[in-house]
Amino acid sequence: MNWISNYVRPTIDSLFSRREVPENLWTKCDSCGTMLFHRELAGSLNVCMSCGHHMNISPRDRFDQLFDNGIYREVKVPTPLADPLQFRDQKRYPDRMRAAQKKTGEAEAMLVAEGEIGRSPIVSACQDFSFMGGSMGMHVGNALVAGAERALERHTPFIVFAAAGGARMQEGILSLMQMPRSTVAVQMLREAGLPYIVVLTHPTTGGVTASYAMLGDIQIAEPGALICFAGPRVIEQTIREKLPEGFQSAEYLLEHGMLDRVTERKNMRDELIMIVRMLMRQPPAIKGELPPPGPAERQKAPEKPTQTDAGTQ
Ligand SMILES: [Zn+2]
Repeated sequence: MNWISNYVRPTIDSLFSRREVPENLWTKCDSCGTMLFHRELAGSLNVCMSCGHHMNISPRDRFDQLFDNGIYREVKVPTPLADPLQFRDQKRYPDRMRAAQKKTGEAEAMLVAEGEIGRSPIVSACQDFSFMGGSMGMHVGNALVAGAERALERHTPFIVFAAAGGARMQEGILSLMQMPRSTVAVQMLREAGLPYIVVLTHPTTGGVTASYAMLGDIQIAEPGALICFAGPRVIEQTIREKLPEGFQSAEYLLEHGMLDRVTERKNMRDELIMIVRMLMRQPPAIKGELPPPGPAERQKAPEKPTQTDAGTQ
């Protein structure tokens, strides 16, 4: 115990922690720069209240909004080898992983879950852009295979929410091998006649766009999402030409026949329910029967269907 540990360090720590508080309460919109209060932003599902920009949303927040009453069960994803290439750039790969795990509270860049939407059972996988840019490494490949296998086992549709900067360079060829691997997983669903639906969110790029993210039976995107293989800056530098306005945006791709739908986040759940029930030849969902997910209801919600469910079927 000395002067440094008793006085200097606590003072420095308090200076830093004091600065962190306002940053956590307010988020700046990447598109229009408006400062948004975190509670209101969460209420609008991370969509800017001022300009409608669809910001990243964590897989857990996405699933809370997607599944009936926010109830879902995680599907176990086999853990891949850690750092097989002993990769190091400015930082060691395991150090980067630890930093991303601490930042997001998740083990990896994709979460797989099963549950019901509008009473239809589904399996869903959601990519986490805040975890190393949602990069596709061995884990993401494992997650897609695990999700597809679970959907086959339970005979349900598989819905993937894509968001990625591309393949995970730290895993070299092993990350690129996830492109054919995930394509095979999609093919298994196709052979079983099960719907595979992709929701492209901002941004979906690189090897992810070049594999599972563009293979959906139905391709939906969120408004304004950048969807491309190589980014606009790289293309401009290569061809030395100015690209058209809105090039590679969700709306541009819809106009050019690459997408089926561009859907706002607030309407996404209802649309997915409608599509799933149509493709699975189920009658339309009963509206007004399902209360919106809220923290209190989530705690009260029963695990098994109650008697009233059986009565309405
Ligand atoms: Zn905005």
